[in-house]
Amino acid sequence: MKRNNVKEICCRKASQIAMSLLLPLVVVGGYYHPILGFTVLALITVFMVLSSRRGRFYCGWLCPMGAFHERFLAKMSLHKPIPALFKSCWLRWVLFSVMMSFMASQLFLAWGDYHAVGDVFRTMWIISTGMAIVLGVYFKPRIWCSICPMGSMQGASSKNTYLLTVEDSCAQCKKCQKVCPVSPYPGSFKKDGVSGQVPSIECLRCSNCVENCPKKVLSFQDRLDL
Ligand code: SF4
Ligand code: SF4
Repeated sequence: MKRNNVKEICCRKASQIAMSLLLPLVVVGGYYHPILGFTVLALITVFMVLSSRRGRFYCGWLCPMGAFHERFLAKMSLHKPIPALFKSCWLRWVLFSVMMSFMASQLFLAWGDYHAVGDVFRTMWIISTGMAIVLGVYFKPRIWCSICPMGSMQGASSKNTYLLTVEDSCAQCKKCQKVCPVSPYPGSFKKDGVSGQVPSIECLRCSNCVENCPKKVLSFQDRLDL
């Protein structure tokens, strides 16, 4: 493995471990200080700005929930494959609509009381983390990232940004799929004679596949064929 690859992997691990500490801080600390719930709002602002240049990079490198699942939940997960249902567009957007409607109604009721508003954001994290843990214990630990409303929002808003590109010389060995936390198979997106690109919404930009591809045919770039 090249030295700069090792550096990148260590850097991602370190940033994930650091960011994962925000999860207990907000969920547990927010019980005593609901204002901590505004951390979630700050992170939403960060990822919306970041996604305009780097797609779902936030999911792969910085998301406290994703980091917790990948670095800690993974140790107790059975790592079963992600079912096809979790890759369906309709499930992603139904969940998005339900959770956003719930959050909007709670914010409406809490409006004017900063502590109550902070608690709404904290509650959204508790609900998401609860569902993600139940799913992640049996399936791949980051299964939630396939349907996460925040990830869907970033993917939809960065359709042509920093896309994972597969060169035509891909050997279709499937090593990339084995190391991917959310299981798209980058090799399947290659096209004869031209490079293919993994849809933004399906890729966390984590670089695991790029670092592990034996043919070195994967890289990130903005879509050129538009
Ligand atoms: S690991 Fe590389 S060569 Fe193998 S299928 Fe994936 S992209 Fe193709
Ligand atoms: S396709 Fe590659 S970069 Fe995208 S999430 Fe999977 S392993 Fe990470």
